[in-house]
Amino acid sequence: MNHVRQAVILAAGMGSRLKGVIEEKPKGFLQLGNKPIIEESIAKLIGFGITKIVIVTGYSSEYYERLKKKYPFVRTIKNQRFENTGSMFSLSIVKDLIDSNFLLLESDLIYEHNALQVLNNSKFNDCILLSGRTSSGDEVYAGIKENRIVNLSKNLGEIKTLGGELVGISKISYDLYQAMINHAEKQFRKNQQYQYEDCLTDVSKMKEINYEFVEDLAWIEIDDKNHFKRAVEKIYPLVQKRDAEFIISKKISRNVLLNPGPATTTDTVKHAMVVEDICPREKEFGELVESIRKDLVRIVNGKDLFEAVLFASSGTGAIEACLTSVVPDNKSVLIINNGAYGERMQQICKNFEVNRIDYNIEWGDPVDLRTIESILSKHKGKISHLAFVHHETTVGILNSLELISKLALKYNIEIIVDAMSSFAGIPIDVNESNIHYLISSANKCIQGMAGISFVICNIDSLKKTKDYRRRSFYFNLYDNYTFFSEHNQMQFTPPVQVLYALRQAISEYFIETEEGRTNRYTELYEVLKNGLEKLGFKFLVDDRFHAKILTSIIEPDDDNYNFTEMHDYLYKRGFTIYPGKGAKQNTFRLANMGEIYKEDIVRFLNCLETYKKLKAIKL
Ligand SMILES: *Cc1c(COP(=O)(O)O)cnc(C)c1O
Repeated sequence: MNHVRQAVILAAGMGSRLKGVIEEKPKGFLQLGNKPIIEESIAKLIGFGITKIVIVTGYSSEYYERLKKKYPFVRTIKNQRFENTGSMFSLSIVKDLIDSNFLLLESDLIYEHNALQVLNNSKFNDCILLSGRTSSGDEVYAGIKENRIVNLSKNLGEIKTLGGELVGISKISYDLYQAMINHAEKQFRKNQQYQYEDCLTDVSKMKEINYEFVEDLAWIEIDDKNHFKRAVEKIYPLVQKRDAEFIISKKISRNVLLNPGPATTTDTVKHAMVVEDICPREKEFGELVESIRKDLVRIVNGKDLFEAVLFASSGTGAIEACLTSVVPDNKSVLIINNGAYGERMQQICKNFEVNRIDYNIEWGDPVDLRTIESILSKHKGKISHLAFVHHETTVGILNSLELISKLALKYNIEIIVDAMSSFAGIPIDVNESNIHYLISSANKCIQGMAGISFVICNIDSLKKTKDYRRRSFYFNLYDNYTFFSEHNQMQFTPPVQVLYALRQAISEYFIETEEGRTNRYTELYEVLKNGLEKLGFKFLVDDRFHAKILTSIIEPDDDNYNFTEMHDYLYKRGFTIYPGKGAKQNTFRLANMGEIYKEDIVRFLNCLETYKKLKAIKL
């Protein structure tokens, strides 16, 4: 689910029971502390990451117009018929201002910060906040069944199983909002006074609406003089006390990234970046870097024969470092190109005038080993390295490490492998597979943050490059390696926080285990593939050659299909999908790397199915 970035505050009401307390002002302008309660609420919402607040005004709307001038993130819309309509009518008129999930609040509420925190942390997309008994005299009770809301009513007699009292802060998904509006439009014909609570009750029969219950929540809705008195004397001081103690340990909202990296990370990896300032030249930091380098080698079973050289760059930086550093001037590198990343290696060599021989294959087709062998034998003695992509993320194909490196061994040439999107996702043994340089980055299957790339180098091979002509200063592999050896540090300023996150990610990889991660990814792939197949989608790459980490799906041949529109629909619902790139047939792509689970894929498939039906896309 996307982080909730929008909020709707219902503020049209007259507050007739508060005459004498606030005069002609709307209820939100009650003041308990140093600013009106509406502004206290706004400040809380902004602190919580809300970026757009829509206030539905009515009575004395000019007060809110002034607020709008003060706060650029506030929008207002006036319910012109506020005197004769209920809260659902107010909620319905924001439909053109809201385009994703949102928090729904009332303007006359005071509440502790934890109320927002609980909704944010909730796994439910549609979530009504409930509290224990308040005895305010104005309660709305929530009837529940298991984790669902079944009705909301002021009449306790109508409640079968009491779940708690409605606070008046709810997390509403875009889908639920649409369902509410559709339902309300019919109701308005006979009942303009329709309340949003009643609409939630009605819609809960068709759509699952959940709740979170907090027994002892500090909050009050101020509707009359007694509420005001209670707020002043008891609740407001309590809210202030609790908010002061509130530790900002926000759970980070979750997007399911189905793009081929950066991948979805755990909260603990994200939190790992919030660290005290430290000079990366300190011994403590050197130890952190050293432990990361060792563990990266360990993941591919490099033992003492390999060393990891880290760069502050995206993955391409490490590819460039390797190709420009290890191929001598008098030799060539054979580059296999069956996707954009193979082609990228060719472009790097072209730019740096590294001699190369190209083996180009249509993107989506597997390599032909006989062709490789014939090239190797034809150029015998001239080729020093064979470079290829392990998992070609352009199409999802897996180029066989074993078979290709066996050939290289036969011709006594070294292997450079771009394992960007397979490292830590597919078991690799650099010794067994006769690999000399293996390249990857922090933000794919290892599930860290973008900003660190690395080459895991066979030390004997690397040492041979000591006196090679330097094609790059910053990215020379050997020079960076010797700096690590001598100082236990990166040669230039590292992205400190990204390394802390990588440290965390590697630890979590080891906790999950190689087998655990591989199995999880494979299961995600199976669930995804089977689900897509059921929907009628066709795939670019045959299962036999599939890496099972990224799936290229052939684009439907139907005028109703539009990738961007589909992307936007899914994006709003928390799923990021990715376009295709230059394959032999037009595709879009779904990766199943990162901290995602079977339930995420199932939810995604449901969402995709709904979209497919909505657009009547024929497959
Ligand atoms: C992601 C990826 C890269 C590198 O991409 P950057 O954007 O530079 O991080 C290179 N090769 C493959 C196979 C990849 O999947």
